[in-house]
Amino acid sequence: MQRDSFLSRLRAGSETFDLLIVGGGASGLGAALDAAARGHRVALIEQGDFAKGTSSRSTKLVHGGVRYLGQGNISLVKSALHERGLLLRNAPHLAHPMPFVIPNYSWWGGPYYAFGLTLYDAVLANYCECVGLVKVNGLVAGVQARDLETGAEFAIRAKAVINATGVFVDALRKFDEPAGKPMVTVSQGVHLVLPREFLPGSSALMIPKTADGRVLFAIPWHDKLVVGTTDTPNVPASTEPRALPEEVGFIMDHAQQYLARDPSESDVLSVFAGLRPLVRKDGAGSTAALSRDHTIAISTSRLITLTGGKWTTYRKMAEDVIDQAERVAGLAHKPSPTGSLAIHGAADIAGIERTLQFYGSDAAGIAASMKADPALAAAVHPALAIRQGEVLWHVRNEMARTVEDVLARRTRSLVLDAKAAIEAAPLVARLLAKELRRDDAWVAAQVRDFTALARGWLLKAPAATTPKRNAPLVA
Ligand SMILES: Cc1cc2nc3c(=O)[nH]c(=O)nc-3n(C[C@H](O)[C@H](O)[C@H](O)COP(=O)(O)OP(=O)(O)OC[C@H]3O[C@@H](n4cnc5c(N)ncnc54)[C@H](O)[C@@H]3O)c2cc1C
Repeated sequence: MQRDSFLSRLRAGSETFDLLIVGGGASGLGAALDAAARGHRVALIEQGDFAKGTSSRSTKLVHGGVRYLGQGNISLVKSALHERGLLLRNAPHLAHPMPFVIPNYSWWGGPYYAFGLTLYDAVLANYCECVGLVKVNGLVAGVQARDLETGAEFAIRAKAVINATGVFVDALRKFDEPAGKPMVTVSQGVHLVLPREFLPGSSALMIPKTADGRVLFAIPWHDKLVVGTTDTPNVPASTEPRALPEEVGFIMDHAQQYLARDPSESDVLSVFAGLRPLVRKDGAGSTAALSRDHTIAISTSRLITLTGGKWTTYRKMAEDVIDQAERVAGLAHKPSPTGSLAIHGAADIAGIERTLQFYGSDAAGIAASMKADPALAAAVHPALAIRQGEVLWHVRNEMARTVEDVLARRTRSLVLDAKAAIEAAPLVARLLAKELRRDDAWVAAQVRDFTALARGWLLKAPAATTPKRNAPLVA
């Protein structure tokens, strides 16, 4: 996927897209895939990088929802479990079953980030912000966009606009109705990443009820252990949320009670925070279509807002919002094919080298490039299972533009080991600069910016912890 050619198409202003989606997280990308797979002409703009927001900061579970089970909401759990089954079939390289240690439950989990939009008519641009709406006769007819790499502003026209901006949905709704009521409130969840040996064996762990009634997970992920999460209400929307000391303390307390041995602050490889957009009961306005898990609101000037839900249900959310958008845009209804649509890269991973398995069918191309140029087979850092050939693949095929794009999302280096990611930044910056034809000043700025950001993912302040109370659940 080439950002430059996509951006030229957006800037040309000569076409009216059927649908324009603002926000490149799970919800927006899922909607773009659904619409494109139905044959609609779709554009999507993302102000940062794809999945820069909440979508890269989840617990990595494809699941039914413990709290809905607790509420006896079986139909919602059934629907999420149905989606989980579809994901395991349509993205076998990204989602996989995982047993949980917890009486009477079995759970599934896995990492998944990629979508497959390359075969369809969807024009995508990262680092392209929506800075206003275009209206004709009082109705939304497109957006005003800004290319954040050049500062250029331009209008993109579309028959309908979908606001899928996560915790920022209200900022976009303000462009439409400056005096409108906010629709979401924001809650923060934090995870700590520990070395894998803190939970030996192949199972994940679920603590169904902590002392204060929360659910806590310890999930094996890419040879590390992700432990979380918290639920801190009413935090401000932010592109780079930070863990609070009390959130870190809460997780450390429980990790010390339940893991094989007591982690200390120096064991923590990374700390990351994510923000949940929670739909306010009184704020949704003219809610057009609802499931109890996600919300679709359509304003009087026809801005469509999609929010709530979870990664697990992104496909169903996308199907629902595109059904609504077809109506708003006056498009002929076409049924969603995504229930049986293989996600880009879907392949039997059995024969693929382990560290390349989540690329699925793309792994062959990456392996071939490293065979052709053995220098590319060198790791970017001794503690990271990422090779130089992968970095080039991300720039050439997956629209990686910055060191952060490569180290935080195309690979999970920042999430898995923040210190190693900081140390790898200069080499990754040089690889990017060569591909993108950038100069030394750009390299220096990239290293400086990434280091400043990644320092926020290191555990600095010692967290308050209480002494270990229980025997370990996992030996
Ligand atoms: C701590 C935590 C743990 C979670 N764990 C799980 C889990 O295990 N399983 C699960 O199924 N779900 C989980 N979830 C929920 C799941 O992560 C979210 O439901 C999902 O990622 C939301 O995706 P989104 O696309 O709506 O929002 P986001 O991923 O935030 O995407 C919105 C995007 O819009 C962009 N944007 C904002 N304003 C503009 C603008 N003006 N112009 C252009 N772009 C803009 C942002 O940069 C952002 O990338 C978890 C959530 C949290 C917070």
